[in-house]
Amino acid sequence: MQQLTASVDLERRMQVAANAPQRLLMLDYDGTLAPFQVDPALALPYPGLTDLLERLAGQGTRIVVVTGRPADQCERLLAVRFPLEIWGCHGGERRLPDGSAWRHELSALQAVGLLRATAIKQAVQALGGRLEIKRLAVAAHHRGCPAQAVHAIRALVRGDWQALARQFDLSVVEFDGGLELRLPGLGKAHAVEVMLAEAPTALPIAFLGDDETDEDGFRAVRGRGLGVLVRPELRPTAADLWIQPPEELFWFLERWGGLTG
Ligand SMILES: [Mg+2]
Repeated sequence: MQQLTASVDLERRMQVAANAPQRLLMLDYDGTLAPFQVDPALALPYPGLTDLLERLAGQGTRIVVVTGRPADQCERLLAVRFPLEIWGCHGGERRLPDGSAWRHELSALQAVGLLRATAIKQAVQALGGRLEIKRLAVAAHHRGCPAQAVHAIRALVRGDWQALARQFDLSVVEFDGGLELRLPGLGKAHAVEVMLAEAPTALPIAFLGDDETDEDGFRAVRGRGLGVLVRPELRPTAADLWIQPPEELFWFLERWGGLTG
């Protein structure tokens, strides 16, 4: 564990959160709650984490998952036994605990752009990578590929998608293990900002994430809550605190959530 922003009184923030009757906990999924797998369908939460989230939810912590995955996919993998709020597709969809949902819609132009982005599917596969077609994005994964293949996939994807982004009102973003073509303006900051606007001023808030795509969430939560980078290695970040999963993740959640003294 390492505190990264000297201006934050971490000890006091932890105590205030632990003693509060309610809290808002925003969590990324892949790399944060679940270790990476080459096949994302196998990315299950750390052992014991689901139980911990259920205990937190039972003790006044509102748990919201903010993920790049579609919400229903993330819900199946996490499989908690309480009604969960999920923001999926990098802020592009929101599912509330009561089952009601909101989804951002693609313009006709953007839909054509995403369809065209799949034209490189076979070329990416031939290099050992994988193209994932989502409702609001197309992702090119190169996790687990040799360095030379990673370089080739990135060059291919960038070359093709940068032009599509300009033409079809889309945006190319980096994530840990690949590149994604998606809608501009969407991102985790959007989800975080909406939840901050809805939250009472004094509510303790934390946002936990691991990836480049979580950095705008860390920036958005700054001033209102704690940004926590969950990652085996430290990297340049806007987060206030760095913790290494899984041990320090459990430590943080239990302590911040008021489950330990
Ligand atoms: Mg992640």
